[in-house]
Amino acid sequence: MNEKHKILIVDDSELNREILLSILEDEYDCYEAEDGEQAIAMISDSNMNYQLVLLDLVMPKVDGYGVLEYMNKNKLLDEIPVIIITSDTSEESIVKAYSLGTFDLFTKPYVANVIKRRAQNVIRMFDQKQRDSLTGGYNRKAFLKYANSIIKNPNNKDENYVLVFFDITHLKAINEFFGIEAGDEILKIFYDELLGSSLNPLLISRLEADHFICLVNEKDFDAEKVSDRMEQTLDISGRKIRMLARFGVYYVVDKEYPVQFMIDKAKLAKESIVDVSVKPYAVYDDSIGYDYINQASILNEFQNSLDEREFQVYLQPVIEAATDKLVSAEALIRWVHPEKGMIPPGKFIPVLEKHGYITRLDKFVLEEIRRQLDSRKNKGMPVLPISINLSWMDFYDENMKAEIIEMLKKGGDTNIRLEITETSYAAMVQDGKKFLDSIKELGIKILLDDFGSGYSSFGIMEKYDFDILKIDMSFVKKIEHNYKNRVIIKKIIELCHEIGIKTVAEGAETKEQVDFLKECGCDYIQGYFYSKPLSTREFVEFARYYGKNNMISREDT
Ligand code: C2E
Ligand code: MG
Ligand code: MG
Repeated sequence: MNEKHKILIVDDSELNREILLSILEDEYDCYEAEDGEQAIAMISDSNMNYQLVLLDLVMPKVDGYGVLEYMNKNKLLDEIPVIIITSDTSEESIVKAYSLGTFDLFTKPYVANVIKRRAQNVIRMFDQKQRDSLTGGYNRKAFLKYANSIIKNPNNKDENYVLVFFDITHLKAINEFFGIEAGDEILKIFYDELLGSSLNPLLISRLEADHFICLVNEKDFDAEKVSDRMEQTLDISGRKIRMLARFGVYYVVDKEYPVQFMIDKAKLAKESIVDVSVKPYAVYDDSIGYDYINQASILNEFQNSLDEREFQVYLQPVIEAATDKLVSAEALIRWVHPEKGMIPPGKFIPVLEKHGYITRLDKFVLEEIRRQLDSRKNKGMPVLPISINLSWMDFYDENMKAEIIEMLKKGGDTNIRLEITETSYAAMVQDGKKFLDSIKELGIKILLDDFGSGYSSFGIMEKYDFDILKIDMSFVKKIEHNYKNRVIIKKIIELCHEIGIKTVAEGAETKEQVDFLKECGCDYIQGYFYSKPLSTREFVEFARYYGKNNMISREDT
């Protein structure tokens, strides 16, 4: 990253060039042009990025004014400062040079120390314009310019490059809970970390907010090594803050592509990461590009589809293991698309979460369930408790939290329950617990969803008093095949019972699984063995059948 700055010396007198060269060549990479025409050709070569041009005024072919005019026209003077070197000190020529945009003027004879200082100041001043004031790294524009010249430089034709796009997770929440200063501090630490990392980056830039891009030589790139640094607990002004980051990788296949295109690909790779518990990075390939098209159409259509009621709430029965009675249900969203048919939530929920739309959907589900329960109650019909899934995003939205509490209060009953995953819980900083407490005060049960997926830990049960724990489907699936797995399920259930938590097993499909779960004393079972998620109409049918056979239990479990 510490290449020498480049200076172009333009003068038709070889002697003058020699003098300037001897003054500057220790500190800078100096290049020479003999006249204006050669200078223009050199300046417009996008592989070179001169940080300063020293320009004589009187030259054959194209003179110094001609070079300034060219640079003016091509908006190059914003990026490359020009200092005129001249012995002509007439007012007229000086005024003309300044009016054409020269930055400064050296008159002969040259004083070495003065020239060095002024060159340094000018370069530093222009360099500041290319920097991000927070991290001190390059801004987007400068990154594009320098990355372009490195990747496309013919001298580097045998090198291979990688672009790595980083995103710090939950920085918005950190800003909110710990203050902007803490967020800024994390950004700076992250930048320094990248700078000193094994990546040995050729260039780094903070593109915007919490997005960073690095240009790396392929031989320095080791994704696993980088992964190890993506999760850290930082000490920020005496507070411990967990920092998580993810990255997307793009191997430069064709150096002729625009750098912005390469950045977009690395970013798409980052955005394709759905299950963060597997690994914190993804490498771009063409299928990701295809996925992106889907993502874009999901986002485009979402609000309209919500308004058109293409989203429907399905209900999956939950059965009491000891009695086989129907006791409750889980609300699961379905997108019934007029052209694409039924789209499962796994396809669109991660996309909505990533782009901040999920809260609208969760609110819709909550309202819909509230409405269904109220309508049945008003008609004097029996109701069962229904649990609703909340996304981690909902906890960052103050309005959403207030609305959830409002809606739950309004119902005045405790038939709605909330499911949250361990990830959501982990994402809740500080006042998350307060929020859950105020819900529990209303008598509403909180379920811990997907326990055992990803990196679960029992620690979470100590941190919060969940009412019910849902054992993830990935465990249940392995019941028949894996002895250790059976022991783990059994122990989870025992442990929960010992601390007063009930258990639901998710995704039970076979009789063997159901029998084993019953044997272990699992309280409730949810899975295709009993029923798939059902439309409201189907669910009413299902419940009617169970009711006829006296197979519904409405004791508040
Ligand atoms: P989840 O909350 O863990 O829901 C259980 C998932 O397991 C559901 O998938 C359900 O259809 C599926 N399942 C249940 N029993 C079986 C079985 O025996 N075999 C198999 N193979 N699958 C079974 P679904 O409906 O595709 O939902 C996936 C996830 O999407 C849910 O996982 C939940 O995390 C999320 N989700 C669904 N609806 C909503 C919603 O309204 N809001 C939010 N934020 N997330 C939702
Ligand atoms: Mg759930
Ligand atoms: Mg689940």
